Formats: sequence, C-alpha cells, structure tokens
Amino acid sequence: QVELIDITKSYDKQKKVLNEISLSIEKGEFFVLVGPSGSGKSTLLRMIAGLEDITDGTLKINDKVVNHLPPKERNLSMVFQNYALYPHLTVEQNILFGLKAKKVSKVEQQERLRETAEMMGLSELLSRKPRELSGGQRQRVALARSVVSQAPLCLMDEPLSNLDAKLRANMRVEIRRLQKRLGLTMIYVTHDQVEAMTMGDRIMVLNDGIIQQIGKPITLYNEPANLFVASFIGSPK
Ligand code: ATP
Ligand code: MG
Repeated sequence: QVELIDITKSYDKQKKVLNEISLSIEKGEFFVLVGPSGSGKSTLLRMIAGLEDITDGTLKINDKVVNHLPPKERNLSMVFQNYALYPHLTVEQNILFGLKAKKVSKVEQQERLRETAEMMGLSELLSRKPRELSGGQRQRVALARSVVSQAPLCLMDEPLSNLDAKLRANMRVEIRRLQKRLGLTMIYVTHDQVEAMTMGDRIMVLNDGIIQQIGKPITLYNEPANLFVASFIGSPK
C-alpha cells in the first residue's frame, strides 16, 4: 500500500511541478495516472521509486515512511518511459539483471525467464543486443525485466507507447492478467484514454502538478469534477 501526504516537488528553486499531492493506493490496486505532457507524472513515479528527492511531504509504503530509503530497499520495480536497457547485455541478461542481486536460484531464474519471454513474445530474441531490436521489442524487454522481478509494487511509465495498436491491445490484457494473478499493486502512467478507462481500478487526472480528480473510470466519465477532466476522459459534458 502506498500513501502520499502533501507531496510537493520543485526542481532547484523553480516553480512547483507537483503541488501538495495526497492520495492512498490500496494493495493489489491498479492505479492509473493520466495528464498532459509536463504535468508531473514521471516526476511522481520517480519520487515513489526513490530516484528523485521529495521537496516536501511524506511518502509511506506499507505504513512505513520511506522518504529517504534507497531505491533498492523499496521492493518495487519500475518500467521507465525511455526503457533504459543495458546496451552491452543481451536480452536475456537485461531481463535477468535485477535478479542477480536477489537470492533467486538459477533454476527459478530460467523458469521465470521462459514464462515471461513467452508472454512478451521475446523467446526468439533472447541472445540479441538492444541495438538489434525494434523500439517495440525494446519496450517489451523493459516490461519483461520488471515482470520477472515479481516485486509487489510495480511502477510503469507509458510502457506501451511505442507498440502498434494490436500489440498494445494484447499487452493491456496481459499486464492486467499478470497484475491480478500476482496481486501486484500497480501505478501506471499513460496518455491513452482507452488504456486508462479499461485498465484502471481508479484513475487520477493530473494537470500542472495539481490533482484534478481521483475516482473509478465510470465516475470520471459520468461525473467529471471539471471541464478539464471531462475533455481529458472524453465524457459528454
Ligand atoms: P510527459 O507526459 O511528457 O512524460 P510528465 O507528466 O511525465 O510529462 P514530468 O517529466 O514529470 O512530466 O515533468 C514535469 C515538469 O518538471 C516539467 O515542466 C519538466 O520540464 C520539469 N522537469 C522534469 N525533470 C526535471 C529536471 N530534472 N530538472 C528540472 N525540471 C524538470
Ligand atoms: Mg513522463
């Protein structure tokens, strides 16, 4: 469970890119974060992951304040917007990279690798280097890396943005199925309204670092808090 209490962020001494964000995400919830470019979505994920300092406020994971806990100790996995693969490692090594540090047996690693690669359609590509892959294939490697870690909290920053429509539709279903099966808590950033509406247990709409509304997809659609939410979600108000 993830709790943010009055979280504020400014880079250097410039204006606030996130302004007193308070919200609580339940264990096992699929929580979707939407908002225009520059609204602060990636910044928020990076703070939860521990990759960015929190200027003000309190971040709790499982009732423990983690503001200053190093990323490695937060027991979470993150898929980055630019997927950040190691160029000198193969697909297989990239996928298994995070497991080396943990005490996961070789047999278990290979088991997870096989299952995940199959699910992501990467089985034929395990010995390639990232530069020998298409953008969409790289994106799937980044997803696979997060999935094999089986961390209970999963942060994804536009993980499907580079995929074609058909693959994206498949991956939506796969991610949702996996999240349910493992009981993962998911915080998922997307630009795609369909993705938000079909995947999210709840959606948060962010604009200019300020929460516009948090609610179930149907609530945002039927009762948008303001015109911004209405136009973003595409409801007829
Ligand atoms: P997008 O949808 O384009 O990915 P976003 O919602 O993820 O946008 P952020 O990347 O969180 O937006 O950026 C929020 C604001 O913070 C932007 O105005 C951005 O310019 C600024 N910003 C982000 N990273 C830094 C940084 N390292 N230093 C200074 N300003 C930054
Ligand atoms: Mg971003």
